[in-house]
Amino acid sequence: MHWNQINFNNFIFTIYNCERSEFNKYIMANKPDNKRKKYRAPRGTSDYLPKRAAQLHYLDSQAAEIFERYGYRRIITPTFEDTDLFSRSIGESSDIVRKEMYTFNDKAGRSLTLRPEATAPVVRAYIEHKLHSEIKPVKLYYIGSMFRYERPQAGRYREFWQLGVEALGSPKPLIDAEVIVLLVDYLKSLALNDLVLHIGSMGDDKCRLPYTKKLRQELEPKAEAMCPDCQQRLKLNPLRVFDCKNKVCRAIIAEAPKITDNLCDECANHLVQVEKGIIGAGIKYQLDPTLVRGFDYYTRTTFEVRSPLLGAQSALGGGGRYDNLIAEYGGPATPAIGFALGMERVLLALEAEQVKLDIEISPDLFVAVVDNTDRPEAFRILTDLRRYGLAAEMDYMARSLRSQMKLADKLGSEFVIILGPDELKSGRVAIKNMATGAERKVSLDQIADSIKNLKSEPKGE
Ligand code: AMP
Repeated sequence: MHWNQINFNNFIFTIYNCERSEFNKYIMANKPDNKRKKYRAPRGTSDYLPKRAAQLHYLDSQAAEIFERYGYRRIITPTFEDTDLFSRSIGESSDIVRKEMYTFNDKAGRSLTLRPEATAPVVRAYIEHKLHSEIKPVKLYYIGSMFRYERPQAGRYREFWQLGVEALGSPKPLIDAEVIVLLVDYLKSLALNDLVLHIGSMGDDKCRLPYTKKLRQELEPKAEAMCPDCQQRLKLNPLRVFDCKNKVCRAIIAEAPKITDNLCDECANHLVQVEKGIIGAGIKYQLDPTLVRGFDYYTRTTFEVRSPLLGAQSALGGGGRYDNLIAEYGGPATPAIGFALGMERVLLALEAEQVKLDIEISPDLFVAVVDNTDRPEAFRILTDLRRYGLAAEMDYMARSLRSQMKLADKLGSEFVIILGPDELKSGRVAIKNMATGAERKVSLDQIADSIKNLKSEPKGE
């Protein structure tokens, strides 16, 4: 029983029937536990309170509009999948699989993992539901939270939101260009300007293996000077050394052969065609021979968009081609390409560029009452207005008329009507424009139409 809620009868009963010591015990047992655990959101996760949730929603709705204009349709996959779906595709040597997956056994002993990314689930769904029988390329987009056990810092969380697209079925460089242009156009539609697009290539089976061998041969004699992570990378997947932030490693790697100088003719030509597509769309980019992204499944084109204003976590989003992944999962050989965009990082970039999102939600109309007894009637009118499509509000805290007007102002309501005995008797009410103070008398059943007309009138200085 809570201290404040001690049942009065019980209390009296206890006083009369207990020894003093027992009474003390009773009091102690019912005392609030001040040391009670204070729950907080788990490390690396956050609550999206209404303002931030509205920002996230804005990013989502803007994406839906633009992605659909480019012909992509939404797909929703489960939050968790079989663990080996990720370990097979992302690669056993990747940081994600080695250290960052949220893996658990369910009650039947199945190993499941909270998705750290969405390409593997989309590919799984593509094969499971035979989407390859649909018109190609099959163009899909998703939004969802991803989970990685990383060291939390600005722009790096354990649960974060990604928006992404996958185009499955075409090997042509123009679809690569489409996906890249879509990513940049989306970010620009949010009024972000300070963006740098990096383009690279990972080659294919034909040229990547000889290149990897060459890279290993070049770096192995210098391995002792490199960090333990890079020594490990040299054994497992030498391409990953390009991800290293260590200064000594970076100096050594700067001298190493670059994959873009070692591509086979087909891969080199593919890259040139992608570049042509991007240039044709009027987008500037940097060719980046060290752009090796963190997943094993990439082939040929890789790309990343960075914001120079974001410091260490500067990548807003990126992606690449993954021509072998679908066949590796037992599906028909299907070339594909996609990107994923970190929504929190986009919000950070918007903040850094001081872009204010236009997402203020305020009522069109506030319905105020003179007498408390008129509230049920005000509520009936309010409900009608809402059903008619207006954003309308009233007070539910028995505030005075003066306080209701203050509240309407605080909420940013554009118009106010005051319902009093006279208005209800005459069936006419004054609509007050909160910005100008101008009033217009209308009959009660014409409020909605009048507000719609007033809203569409030119604002005037
Ligand atoms: P990735 O799936 O690793 O290619 O990441 C795509 C994008 O997701 C990155 O460019 C980031 O914007 C975002 N991202 C990746 N990991 C995190 C994280 N731990 N916290 C926040 N955003 C992330």
